[in-house]
Amino acid sequence: MTGHDPHQVNRRKFLSAAGGLAAAGMSSNALGAPDGKSPDDRKVQLNNPQVGQPVSQTAKARDGKPLVPEPPPKKLGYCIVGLGKFGVQQILPSFAQAEHAKPVALVSGDRDKAEAIAAHYDISSKSIYNYDNFDDIADNDEIDVVYIILPNAMHAEFTIRAHEAGKHVLCEKPMATSVEDCQQMIDAADKANRKLMIAYRVQYEPYNMKVIEWSRSQKYGPLQMIVSDTVLDIGGPNQWRLSKKLSGGGSLMDIGIYSLNATRYITGEEPIAINAMKRQNENDPRFSEVEQSILFQLQFPSGVMGNCSSSYSTAEVNRYCAMFQDGWIKLDPATTYTGHRFYHGSGKKEEQLFLEHVSHFAAEMDHFAEAIKNNSEVRTPGQEGLKDVKYMRMIYEAAETGKTVKVS
Ligand code: NAD
Repeated sequence: MTGHDPHQVNRRKFLSAAGGLAAAGMSSNALGAPDGKSPDDRKVQLNNPQVGQPVSQTAKARDGKPLVPEPPPKKLGYCIVGLGKFGVQQILPSFAQAEHAKPVALVSGDRDKAEAIAAHYDISSKSIYNYDNFDDIADNDEIDVVYIILPNAMHAEFTIRAHEAGKHVLCEKPMATSVEDCQQMIDAADKANRKLMIAYRVQYEPYNMKVIEWSRSQKYGPLQMIVSDTVLDIGGPNQWRLSKKLSGGGSLMDIGIYSLNATRYITGEEPIAINAMKRQNENDPRFSEVEQSILFQLQFPSGVMGNCSSSYSTAEVNRYCAMFQDGWIKLDPATTYTGHRFYHGSGKKEEQLFLEHVSHFAAEMDHFAEAIKNNSEVRTPGQEGLKDVKYMRMIYEAAETGKTVKVS
């Protein structure tokens, strides 16, 4: 593998990589910005008030009248439900990069913490709720979207309540702990005539989007197999992720879902058969309720196979390799928050691809806000979340019975 550090990629290197792509006959969109614009397009638009202006306004300016720029796009208001590690450390800071989304309300069981965070993000105290008075969000017109960042087993209840309050919902992965709960969430969205999106941030991340693009265009010929591993050190015993009631399962529900979802977005297919083995680890009391490690294999209609693993172990492993008839693509790490590395090649020749960093958290929230504004389809709707939950239940069934589960 080449030894470049993506954090050290400077602008000259990036442009040279972009030029290389252009020379290879790829459009600027091939640079992988989540909204179809290249990262450079985004910069130009942000820095130049004339880009995107109606023709009439430009004409007025030529007539000597003052040029009055269009107001910036209206940002939709997000209500963040659950001020845990992910919400506070990743999501809230990412609004700074969002063009169409802003935080306007918080839901927490800890009023002092919520007050401190609200002050930091200029959110009114009146827009702080707890889990009991949550339904009062119905009266807050500033809130367009409710973003659920709670333990897995609470996703269904708060998604349904948010839809009943007339709000659109962005819900963290995994969508819920059962297929029945997923279906009720989808039904609640339909009944309220509101949108439901599952926060599969990786599907808004440029390197992963590039893998999808190259897989679909068969840059290296037909896809043959995907291997993917996710391993994380889960830490101490007192956490909801180790409670089956709150998590719905162990490493599979939490991180193995990234491998499962990757096999589906890289192939663009749904699995037809599943094998699995799991280990709870009787020697470690943290895993008395949920599995520590799981191996699973997927077969797709085209013949492509996926070989995946997840584990709450001491290593940090986060990678996949897609093997095609004439070459391969490796992402390592593949689904981390930052620092993705993309290697590809054929035979012994290996290259590293560099794309400019884009906040995929902001891209995801912007995508949802734009879909609401334009009433367009979301890329990762409730059905996408339901499918993963259905396959994860089948993976557990295959592991428990020792038999191949055919997907009906
Ligand atoms: P966390 O434990 O840090 O935060 C959970 C929040 O829920 C806390 O604020 C906690 O107070 C609150 N909560 C309310 N009722 C609770 C209860 N009964 N038990 C425990 N906590 C309760 O967890 P997190 O890491 O922020 O994860 C939250 C959700 O976000 C999960 O669904 C997880 O899968 C998802 N997540 C997604 C990503 C991603 O990259 N997309 C990353 C991390 C977490």
